Amino acid sequence: MTSKVYCYHCMTYHPPEVMRKLQTPRGERWRCIRSIEAARNNPDERDAFGEQQSELNRARARSTQAQRNFERRQYTPGC
Ligand SMILES: [Zn+2]
Repeated sequence: MTSKVYCYHCMTYHPPEVMRKLQTPRGERWRCIRSIEAARNNPDERDAFGEQQSELNRARARSTQAQRNFERRQYTPGC
């Protein structure tokens, strides 16, 4: 008997031996190795890694934005 496991990523069933259990905020999910490997080569999902590096830039941009807002508050244009 082959009991297949539902892959939430592919939205289909795979043999249990290719499945990996993942912890998500919504509980345990099963995802196949292939989709995990594909995600590793997928630029979209790899951005999550670059995100950490750009976090600094973003923090810097945020403070620049805050500075800009601050200056805007000082200067009140007539509308
Ligand atoms: Zn899958």
